[in-house]
Amino acid sequence: MKENATSIDRRSFLGLGAAAAAAGALGLAGCAPKTPGEAPLSETGDSAPANNAADWLGVEPEIAESDIVETIDTDFLIIGAGTAGLAAAGAAGDLGMNFIVCDKATQVPETREYLGGVDTSYAKANNVTIDRPKLLNELTRYASGKCNQKLIKLWIDDSAEYVDWVTEVMQEQGKEVMLDMPPAHSTGGTDYYVPYVQHLWEPSYVPPMRNDVIAERLAGQGHDILFEHEMVKLLHADGKVTGAVFSTKDGYKQVNAKNTLLA
Ligand SMILES: Cc1cc2nc3c(=O)[nH]c(=O)nc-3n(C[C@H](O)[C@H](O)[C@H](O)COP(=O)(O)OP(=O)(O)OC[C@H]3O[C@@H](n4cnc5c(N)ncnc54)[C@H](O)[C@@H]3O)c2cc1C
Repeated sequence: MKENATSIDRRSFLGLGAAAAAAGALGLAGCAPKTPGEAPLSETGDSAPANNAADWLGVEPEIAESDIVETIDTDFLIIGAGTAGLAAAGAAGDLGMNFIVCDKATQVPETREYLGGVDTSYAKANNVTIDRPKLLNELTRYASGKCNQKLIKLWIDDSAEYVDWVTEVMQEQGKEVMLDMPPAHSTGGTDYYVPYVQHLWEPSYVPPMRNDVIAERLAGQGHDILFEHEMVKLLHADGKVTGAVFSTKDGYKQVNAKNTLLA
């Protein structure tokens, strides 16, 4: 919701309080609209309007239709084949969906070994108990309250399903899951809540690594990742994202998709 400088109500004012404290030194006056036509402050105190194209991504390029060398249609476009993209692709592959994964790199990124999951099958089999409200509270404290608790709760409630899936996939490669990170905090300082959530697959730090295993599994299902496809522009129609344009060594390619995941 946008507010103009003269109609900030009490709720918005309180919401802006913390930001205003930090912005004090910078001078909020500098953020206020200077002329009637200028962009007003948003609720979060941003001076940039939501539709400002010149944001951190820069101005999107103009690409003529005649510059598109290929157009592909799919149900589900996944942009990015890293930790998040491969998780989505793994699920899409097992569900038999029609989808495409694109990444600007030449291969999947290096796997980060540890995967956090709450109340996974392995943890339950090893009698690990986790106090979920306490964990939510601890992660909120760790972020100094500057976090989306709903997102953290989603991870607390749903992460086990993905870790269990990875465990099955890695087992097919002869790797076994284990838990790491003891609850006793190594700093010996404040007694923070650090339950067992970190999973890794033994033997760890040796191939095959998780990202490669998932990529090979996808290839086995007929879903090759399109590497060296750099997303340069999202496509929209009626306020909905309808796909993206990629820069490739052959030229621009357009992917029309019913659903797009920017991962
Ligand atoms: C040294 C190190 C160790 C870490 N260890 C751990 C750990 O043990 N456990 C843990 O949970 N986390 C760890 N992390 C953090 C973890 O790596 C990230 O949180 C995680 O990779 C983020 O996943 P992601 O899918 O959002 O992004 P990424 O895994 O970075 O994937 C993003 C992908 O998008 C692609 N991409 C970007 N821009 C475009 C574009 N325009 N077009 C097409 N493709 C594009 C990139 O090439 C990349 O492959 C570690 C991080 C570092 C740096």
